[in-house]
Amino acid sequence: MMLKIEHIGIAVKDLNNSNELFKKLFGQAHYKTEEVQSEGVNTSFFQIGENKIELLVATNPDSPIAKFIEKKGEGIHHIAFDVADIRAEMKRLESEGFVLLNQEPKAGADNKLVCFLHPKGTNGVLIELCQENK
Ligand code: ZN
Repeated sequence: MMLKIEHIGIAVKDLNNSNELFKKLFGQAHYKTEEVQSEGVNTSFFQIGENKIELLVATNPDSPIAKFIEKKGEGIHHIAFDVADIRAEMKRLESEGFVLLNQEPKAGADNKLVCFLHPKGTNGVLIELCQENK
């Protein structure tokens, strides 16, 4: 079961510049930054009421974020949904015909277990499932 939108991920070229820009936009600074080495990204998080915005910058040229920006430019990269049981949700979505980009939940930013769905099966929107890693 999907519980709520956990965060929206935005791909940016320069994290420092974008942290400043979004600080002006939201009227508050990001509350943390975190590198996810396995994904080749550095992230920062803003809390807006109940919702979060995650900024993502590539840390190497092979990073999915580098490739995304090359193809599409900066902008909304993914929408993440909080799920109660990520394995159950992955199984359910796979049986519905969605293509999972990873077959096992993996460690994402912000102490989450995550799984991405292939955007070809979701009208071009990259969907991230995430579950609090307890
Ligand atoms: Zn995310």
